[in-house]
Amino acid sequence: MGFIEEIKRRRTFGIVSHPDAGKTTLTEKLLLFGGAIRVAGAVKSNKIKKGATSDFMEIERQRGISVATSVMGFEYRNYKINILDTPGHQDFQEDTFRTLTAVDSVIIVIDAAKGVEPQTEKLMNVCRMRKTPVIVFVNKLDRPSQDSFDLLDEIENQLQIKTRPLSWPINSGPDFKGVYNIYNRNLRLFNANVQEIEDSIEFKDINSPELENYIGDDASVLREELELVEGVYPEFDHEEYQKGNLAPVFFGSALYNFGVQELLDAFVEIAPYPRSSQTEEREIKPDEKDFTGFIFKIHANIDPNHRSRIAFVKICSGKFERNKAYKHIRSGKQLRISSPTAFMASQKEIIEEAYPGDIIGVPDSGNLVIGDSITAGEEIHFKGLPSFSPELFRYIENADPMKSKQLSKGIDQLMDEGVAQLFTSQFNGRKIIGTVGQLQFEVIEYRLLHEYGAKCRFENLAMHKACWIECDDPKTLSEFKKRKHQKMATDKRGRDVFMADSGFILQMAQDEFKDVKFHFTSEF
Ligand code: GDP
Repeated sequence: MGFIEEIKRRRTFGIVSHPDAGKTTLTEKLLLFGGAIRVAGAVKSNKIKKGATSDFMEIERQRGISVATSVMGFEYRNYKINILDTPGHQDFQEDTFRTLTAVDSVIIVIDAAKGVEPQTEKLMNVCRMRKTPVIVFVNKLDRPSQDSFDLLDEIENQLQIKTRPLSWPINSGPDFKGVYNIYNRNLRLFNANVQEIEDSIEFKDINSPELENYIGDDASVLREELELVEGVYPEFDHEEYQKGNLAPVFFGSALYNFGVQELLDAFVEIAPYPRSSQTEEREIKPDEKDFTGFIFKIHANIDPNHRSRIAFVKICSGKFERNKAYKHIRSGKQLRISSPTAFMASQKEIIEEAYPGDIIGVPDSGNLVIGDSITAGEEIHFKGLPSFSPELFRYIENADPMKSKQLSKGIDQLMDEGVAQLFTSQFNGRKIIGTVGQLQFEVIEYRLLHEYGAKCRFENLAMHKACWIECDDPKTLSEFKKRKHQKMATDKRGRDVFMADSGFILQMAQDEFKDVKFHFTSEF
């Protein structure tokens, strides 16, 4: 197969949802279709139950699993599919956001009874920022659900994206009869009692009286609703979908493996193959000859006996080859990757080559960090996703004077992994950890102890926001820094950050220094 064909047959995507909407279940069913797993239940949920006291033990247990399921590659029809897993827990949403920088499209799972939930909105915001094409899967139709038209309205309003149903449910809950596939014009009947999926029935003409034989009186309702669909929604516009302006919608029940094949079959046909990537220097096209890629995830200390890490590299252009000399742009050093791994069917294996759209695992001893670019030689820097201002802040202190070296090494590495953000006070040199959720502090404390033998202590810090500041006039900037000296900190990349105690204080500072720009994300 030629280089271009290899690119065109790749589908690299993420499945996201508000917790419990059915992301894990859907992922598993997709893997079943791909033959990547044989039995249901083989995909371990890497979900952390909220409020469980054993949360971080659970995280530890799951870290091993989550490497294996971070990327799930499999073949389906003639397509090479890569599913990128994302943590469902909102305390780890930054991790999810970063993973979304490496996908070419997204499937959003929505619970048909609950509709759009808060986490769904946040995830959609990130997709919108990046113009990532989105397909919506409305799940759990086997349970009493909201009216389908209402759901579509809710998606349009709350997720701010136009929708176009490509399948349509016939009732829900105990009366759920099945789904009419608008895209392929056939009917699939739901039967909760059989394990196997029944064959779909071709129905080019929905007005055929045959329909009554299958779904009885529901046939007339279905006809009416489909007529309404065709009246309300314009034809599915593939281009608008690929631009991220229009979300095709499918209905089904992941638990019963229903509507999933329709989703997958349409997905491989309409979802984009690897797209161009933005770098600071220029746009990179996947079919360029030279290899380029970037690191979107680091997974450290999988084996407690070895200080090893795996860097996840998304290939953006060119063919990747094992043992070839590439350039690690940040350090300027040559990088020869001798044991790159592929993530096929949740097992790792060493590979000789890989193509744009693929993710490879690169063993690393601590030189690679999230956001790094690797190329065949050209000086390019991929644009990642900015860090957002954390919401919770604490001083981190050494609780064991004998282990201060271990502590700072541990902190450094965990920050490289993107577990949280570190700021150093310019006033007193103290280290401040910023997170989006309480659980992250627990993870940091636990991992510092178990992986680095270091004990830490947190001290509460009432802080509102971290603002990256910038000013064209160096004099004003230095005046600002002098005046706010006690509240100035430095982020990991050495940039100035103003730590605002409260919204009020931030407002005062903004009023006082009109020429200073306050940014709430790290990239501007
Ligand atoms: P996630 O948090 O989004 O990964 O959700 P899970 O896939 O773990 O599903 C959460 C719960 O909903 C589990 O108990 C699933 O068995 C259940 N579930 C998932 N899909 C369906 C469905 O289609 N119908 C029903 N009735 N339950 C479902």
